[in-house]
Amino acid sequence: MISSLLTHAARHHASAGVVTNTVEGGLHRYTYADCERRARRLAKALTARGVGEGERIGTLAWNTYRHLELYYGVSGMGAVCHTINPRLFAGQITYIVQHAADTHLFVDLTFVPLVEKLAPEFAETVKAVIVMTDRAHMPEVSLPEGMELLCYEELLEGADEDFTWPEFDENTASSLCYTSGTTGNPKGVLYSHRSTVIHALGVNAPDVLGLRSADTVMPVVPMFHVNAWGTPYAAPAAGATLAMPGPHMDGESLQAFMEEAGVTAALGVPTVWLGLLNHLRASGKRIDACKRLIIGGSACPRMLMEAFGDEYGVRVDHAWGMTEMSPLGTYNSLKASQTHLEGEDLMQVRASQGRVIYGVDMKIVGEDGEELPWDGKAFGALMVRGPWVCRAYYKREDEAGETHDADGWFRTGDVATIDPEGFMRITDRTKDVIKSGGEWISSIELENIAVAHPDVAEAAVIAARHPKWDERPLLIVVPKDGRDLDPDALLAFYEGKVAKWCAPDAVLVVDELPHTATGKLLKTALRDKYADHLLQ
Ligand code: ADP
Repeated sequence: MISSLLTHAARHHASAGVVTNTVEGGLHRYTYADCERRARRLAKALTARGVGEGERIGTLAWNTYRHLELYYGVSGMGAVCHTINPRLFAGQITYIVQHAADTHLFVDLTFVPLVEKLAPEFAETVKAVIVMTDRAHMPEVSLPEGMELLCYEELLEGADEDFTWPEFDENTASSLCYTSGTTGNPKGVLYSHRSTVIHALGVNAPDVLGLRSADTVMPVVPMFHVNAWGTPYAAPAAGATLAMPGPHMDGESLQAFMEEAGVTAALGVPTVWLGLLNHLRASGKRIDACKRLIIGGSACPRMLMEAFGDEYGVRVDHAWGMTEMSPLGTYNSLKASQTHLEGEDLMQVRASQGRVIYGVDMKIVGEDGEELPWDGKAFGALMVRGPWVCRAYYKREDEAGETHDADGWFRTGDVATIDPEGFMRITDRTKDVIKSGGEWISSIELENIAVAHPDVAEAAVIAARHPKWDERPLLIVVPKDGRDLDPDALLAFYEGKVAKWCAPDAVLVVDELPHTATGKLLKTALRDKYADHLLQ
C-alpha cells in the first residue's frame, strides 16, 4: 500500500518532513507526522463526501505539501490521484478531465482562472472544485450551477484524524497521469499501489537515486509529470526530507530556496538547470549543500555536467524514463570496470542515458523485430519490460497489441544503442513530437493547423535544436502555386489555436518537401538538413 510509505516516515522519521516554497508566498515546514495526520483528515473528508474506491480525483497543482497530502490521502483511501498537467492546451485539459471522469478537482490558486474558464465543459462529472489554500486567500470564483466551490483548509478542518488506512489488493489503481508524448489525444497511464511501491524501492537503490535519511531532496520536476519522477514516494521511504519549490522554478528562486532548505540532491529537466547555472554565474552565488543533480526528461547537455561539476562541485547524474515507466528506466552510475576512466572517455560514458535499474529490462530491435547486438554501434527501437512499465493505456486496453509486442515488451518510441556494459544511448526518436523544456509539442497538430491556412500546400514541423529549451518547433512549408507566403502571417495564424508556447519558433518557406517511396513526409531528411536552423 502507498500509505505504508508515509506511515513509515511518520513513525520512524518523524523529525524529517517537507519544506515548501508556497504558492501564497513564504516557506512552510512540517514533519512527516504532520503530513500523515493531514492526509488522514483529507481521506476522511473525501470519504464523507462519498468518494469511493477507484474514483478519480484530479489535481492541477505545483509541488507543495498540500499536493503531497493529496498524493497520499487520495491513493491511501483507495481512490485514484489524477495529476493534470496545467501547461497543456485548454482542449487537452478538457479532454483529460472528461476522459478520466474526475469527480473532484483540487486546484492551486494559480490555476483557478483556468478552471473557471473550462468548468462548464467538466460539469457532467466534476462535483466540486477545491482551491488549495486557506480562507484568507480564497478568491472569487464563479462555477456552473451544481458545482461546489470549497476551500482546502476548511475541508480538512471539517474532518478529524480518526481514519485507518485501508488494506486492499496491491494491484488496485493508485494514480493516473496522461502523456501527450504521442500523436492524437493524450493517453492515460494508470499506476497501481504495487507498481508505485516497487518503483520507489527500485529507484532508492545505491546506484540510482540512493536517497538517505540525511538527504533533503528537491523535485523540480513537477508532480504533474509522472509523479515528480517518484520522489514523493522514494523520499518518505528513505526518511529523506522533501523540498518542494512550489511555482518558483526560476534560477534565482531555486538558489535561494536550495540554500534555505539545505537541499542535497535535486531532480529536473535540463532547461531548469540551465536557468540555475546562468543565475549562479551572473550572481556569484553558490549551492554548497547540494551534492547531486539528477537530470532527465531530455538529453542532458555535456556542458551542464561539466559546468556544475567543475565550477560548483555538484555531480550531475543522467537518467532516462517515461510516463509509461513510472518513470525511471535507466540511471548513469559507473561500474567498477569504468572507475579508471578519465577525460573524454569518462565523459562519453557519463553523457549516455545509463544502464537499467533492477526491475526493468530493455532491448533494441531492428525493423524485423530481431534483437540487435550490444556493441555501442547498432541502433534500433528501444523496448522495455518490467513491473512498473504500463501494460496498456487507460481505457484503451484494446490497443495493447500496437503498443506492446507479443511478449509484453513496450515500444518506447526512442531509438538507441547499447554498449557491452549495458549503457544505453538515445540516438533518435520515432515518435513524431518535439520536447521543449520538458514539455511535449505534437508536430502533427502544428502541421494540421498550417495546412488549414489557405496559402499552404504542404507543411512539416520538426524539432530544431535550441540552446535554452533543448528543442523548439520549426515549421517548413510549401506555398500553394503562385501564392506569396508571409511567415509572420502564418505564425499569427496559430494564435488561439494552440497554447502560445507550442507555436512554431520560425517558418521556412521551401519549394518542395522530401517524401518516402510511399509518399510519406521524410522527416529524417528534414531533420538532417534543418535541425540546427534555430542555432544560426
Ligand atoms: P518525463 O516526464 O520523464 O520526461 P515523458 O513520458 O514525458 O516522461 O517523456 C519520455 C520521453 O522523453 C522518452 O521516451 C524520451 O524520448 C525523452 N527522454 C526522457 N529522458 C531522456 C534523456 N535522459 N535523454 C533523452 N531523451 C529523454
